[in-house]
Amino acid sequence: MKAILIENADEKYQSSLTEVDEARLPDGEVTVAVDYSTLNYKDSLAITGTSPVVRQFPMVPGIDFAGTVTDSASDDFKTGDKVILNGWGVGEVHWGGLAQKARVKSDWLVPLPAAFTPRQAMGIGTAGYTAMLCVLGLEKHGVTPDKGEILVTGAAGGVGSVAIALLAKLGYRVVASTGRASEAEYLKGLGASDIIDRNELSEKGRPLGKERWAGAVDAVGSHTLANICATTKYGGTVTACGLAQGFDLPATVMPFILRGVTLAGIDSVYCPKERRLEAWNRLAVDLDIGLIDAMMTEISLSDAIKTADQQMAGQTRGRVVVDVNR
Ligand code: NAP
Repeated sequence: MKAILIENADEKYQSSLTEVDEARLPDGEVTVAVDYSTLNYKDSLAITGTSPVVRQFPMVPGIDFAGTVTDSASDDFKTGDKVILNGWGVGEVHWGGLAQKARVKSDWLVPLPAAFTPRQAMGIGTAGYTAMLCVLGLEKHGVTPDKGEILVTGAAGGVGSVAIALLAKLGYRVVASTGRASEAEYLKGLGASDIIDRNELSEKGRPLGKERWAGAVDAVGSHTLANICATTKYGGTVTACGLAQGFDLPATVMPFILRGVTLAGIDSVYCPKERRLEAWNRLAVDLDIGLIDAMMTEISLSDAIKTADQQMAGQTRGRVVVDVNR
């Protein structure tokens, strides 16, 4: 099978497209012929070695995939079933989706929702499923469309794009924060009502500012997240899922103790199965399927390594879907 393989022999970190014997696939009850995988931010961190995402070598990256079961020792899946996988350490500690075959635990798989083709499901991918988890987080904390504006940061990226599309369809007024003014039309096409420059949020700010956001989906972290909390309205909720600016959080407790703001952490990797199924079921209902194509770029497996460099440089837009069979 063709695969991207990350090696770290003699401290030399290297990703390459290579032929790998299927006999080397890791243990697992279900073998899947992968149709599509994707490049999430974490995959590009792994491929480029920018941060220590990969914890075992050699590693096939790819934290998500959609494909068809070819072999199953589990009662839950049979040959021919269409499945998707997000997270569970796949692409980090267990070989992942940037290959033509994957072998995984059956508990990690989710049936492909009938609403989506494998390509569309990966047009959503882990970034989109995480965006849905953020929306569920806002809902859980009572942030309804009548409460006011929702800020989405990293707007032209994968999480940001899907979050905008979901929130707009659900009736929220969405403000998109981006570093790329050139993407304003794209973001409005997804449903953003307003665009702000991410520089407005990225520098050290005051402990509290003028109340603006009813809620937020933050893919960026660092000063941006601190500033969002400081400008969130009384009782509002900020869902934090990313670190594109940085993993630090130089904030004060003021928004939490004076305005009752909730900072809700979102993790997609070890999210319990029930919540994953809920997220994918909601994506099937709440995402305008017609927007998936607008949000995604399809590349071949042989383009994945150079595209990872582009993603790290903030040059990819929306979701990057990888056809592993070309
Ligand atoms: P992506 O497609 O590469 O999008 C990231 C976006 O962040 C970029 O498009 C850019 O948006 C913005 N950005 C990049 N560098 C920045 C900087 N220095 N300062 C401020 N903004 C910056 O990545 P993704 O796959 O959507 O993932 C986004 C984040 O969510 C990543 O940190 C990822 O690790 C995290 N994530 C977490 C989970 C979880 O389970 N918690 C799951 C999925 C993703 P603009 O060009 O519009 O400014």
